[in-house]
Amino acid sequence: MENTKRHKPADIRFDDRLVIQWKDGVTHRIPYLPLRDACPCAACVDELSGQKTLDPATIPPDIHLKRADYVGNYALRLHWSDGHGTGLYTFRSLRQLGEQTGQMEN
Ligand SMILES: [Zn+2]
Repeated sequence: MENTKRHKPADIRFDDRLVIQWKDGVTHRIPYLPLRDACPCAACVDELSGQKTLDPATIPPDIHLKRADYVGNYALRLHWSDGHGTGLYTFRSLRQLGEQTGQMEN
């Protein structure tokens, strides 16, 4: 119960980063490179072993978001400038990424 607000976005937008305002009042600005690098889809992570198969060196340095779609009430589907768009990022994983790589914003 006390974790619900931490994992629910109140607002999502993107400029040079993905900006997520969480319902607990925290806002994270997550840079695109680590976000793209963390793509959890079957093309980027081996489903059986859980091993990452995406080579970060193949990510274009100017990678940016084209679109972000809500999936149910638990995830975002991110569409990237490199044409990749199969990754479902759960709010839980985005919150974790935000805490690891994101800047806080007031
Ligand atoms: Zn992927």
